[in-house]
Amino acid sequence: MKNKLLFLVTVVCGCLLFSACAAPSARKTSTQATSTSSTTVRVLLAEKQKSASFKHSGLIYIYTKDRSKKYKISQAGTVAARALGAGKIQVGTLQSSQPVILEPAPGKTITFKGNAYAGKIYLIADASAFHIVEYVPLETYLYGVLPYEMSYTWPAEALKAQAVAARTFTLKSMQTTGKRYFDLYSDVRSQMYKGTGKIYPSVKTAVDKTRGEVLAYDGQLFYTYYHGNCGGATDSVTSWNPGAKAIKPLSGAKCGYDKHAKNYSWQQTVSRAKAESYAASLGLKGKLKSIKVARKTGTGRATNITVRTQKGSKTIACGNFRMAFGLKSCKITKLSLRKKDVLFKGRGSGHGVGMCQDGANGMAKAGKSYKQILKKYYPGAKLTPLKDL
Ligand SMILES: [Zn+2]
Repeated sequence: MKNKLLFLVTVVCGCLLFSACAAPSARKTSTQATSTSSTTVRVLLAEKQKSASFKHSGLIYIYTKDRSKKYKISQAGTVAARALGAGKIQVGTLQSSQPVILEPAPGKTITFKGNAYAGKIYLIADASAFHIVEYVPLETYLYGVLPYEMSYTWPAEALKAQAVAARTFTLKSMQTTGKRYFDLYSDVRSQMYKGTGKIYPSVKTAVDKTRGEVLAYDGQLFYTYYHGNCGGATDSVTSWNPGAKAIKPLSGAKCGYDKHAKNYSWQQTVSRAKAESYAASLGLKGKLKSIKVARKTGTGRATNITVRTQKGSKTIACGNFRMAFGLKSCKITKLSLRKKDVLFKGRGSGHGVGMCQDGANGMAKAGKSYKQILKKYYPGAKLTPLKDL
């Protein structure tokens, strides 16, 4: 009921203020950008929504992509959106088959599902639902990525290394967007991002002090992968993704700075029932006979696991196996099939490719600079302003 009332208030304010609506500027082409200041990132906040509500902290502009329909609301409030089907959407008072844009005035934000965003929010309808995408300047986007990928309490040099890695990863991802209506997911499929409602000073400093800086190899951006803890040494990207191009910066490096962290060594158990149900999902029903590392890298990271039951055996990529069991990593040092469960012992967390974040923390605490950190985990890569590429 309360929401309905807010919706009506929104409608009334919107109609009254229609004529005073200013037309905000259009998006610049992102992948052609030579400077990160002019780059806009399109981040998917949610897909396949039937309805959604957006709280705005003050003045907001609402308009269709071609600006043929527009209005503004001067006071803080809530705007409701719902899918009308057949590619149409209703946002406040406005109905359209075009994308509808919610744009907060400078200094104002739009809150969706508890996270506040300062960029423009695009609502893009398909046949039965709509998708929510924020258009946000790259450097601002990074303020909302860093604290969810690395603790904001970590030393400045570790955060700076993370800023460069996240910036490069973003720009590389944008080169491969294709015709999709967004560039990056706001979760682990790309990088975590929770808007910029809360900007930590340590994060802002790390992003601002490395503004525009990226890593390149052979004059090109590359996927600057990073992960929690490598367990002593990182691995080649091909150990995790056999189809990836094996370039020097992603070929693996010795770490030696991550032993202090809790994920350096771990042990986990998985119930036998869960393991047998997983085996059944591979087409291997019946009693589990063994689970073994079939192949591993020189640093001890399993690439393949063989599961055997009464019905036969199958060898699968460890990445898939790890996800199914929720293991911290594939660097499995011990695997025992016991009466009631399976015991795993291992090292590190994450895929083990690129920068080891616990190692970056360790290096920064040992007085190393972000340049030294990046050089260690992306050997052969060049730190450069994007405009010089
Ligand atoms: Zn490490």
